[in-house]
Amino acid sequence: MSIETLSAAVRNIPDFPIPGIQFKDITTLFQSSEHLKDLSEILFERYRDRGITKVVGIESRGFFMGPALAIQLGAGFVPVRKPGKLPFDIIEETYTKEYGEDTIQIHADALDKNDVVLIHDDLLATGGTMLAAYNLIRKLGVQKIYINFLIELEELQGRSLFPEEVEIDTVLKYSI
Ligand code: AMP
Repeated sequence: MSIETLSAAVRNIPDFPIPGIQFKDITTLFQSSEHLKDLSEILFERYRDRGITKVVGIESRGFFMGPALAIQLGAGFVPVRKPGKLPFDIIEETYTKEYGEDTIQIHADALDKNDVVLIHDDLLATGGTMLAAYNLIRKLGVQKIYINFLIELEELQGRSLFPEEVEIDTVLKYSI
């Protein structure tokens, strides 16, 4: 199955949740067993030889494919969550969004210096959420960080926020 077929399976919802946003609905991609299997294989092929020890998924749409990919890679899965959800000691990162601020948290003992981490989320728009997750995980002193998204909205140039040496991979690309 081609990337074009997978791209076409993502449903575009104009003006959701607010006017001007072209919302990429991945539920239509996931509901097909064939698409789901292909997507899963593409992700596995891209990361199988990287020595990844932990996949970090960002709440909440990073929780769909993140654990499945972790199982395939023989890695653990670690959630990055919104405030108040994680029960143990946490570290956090606050970042600015278009309207106001947001905070994300991770368990302080979830990763260490031996970990090679793949941070995964569904979609790269402005990049603010992933940059916060990247900065958060760096605080835990891990060996290396890779970044993956299912979808990239290229016109928003979210990847420009990251240092050049960070490897950012996206499966499906749309202009917006
Ligand atoms: P950003 O921090 O701007 O890169 O936004 C990333 C997060 O917002 C992703 O985790 C997405 O779930 C969500 N998001 C932003 N824009 C869209 C969009 N056009 N369609 C679907 N989800 C989006």
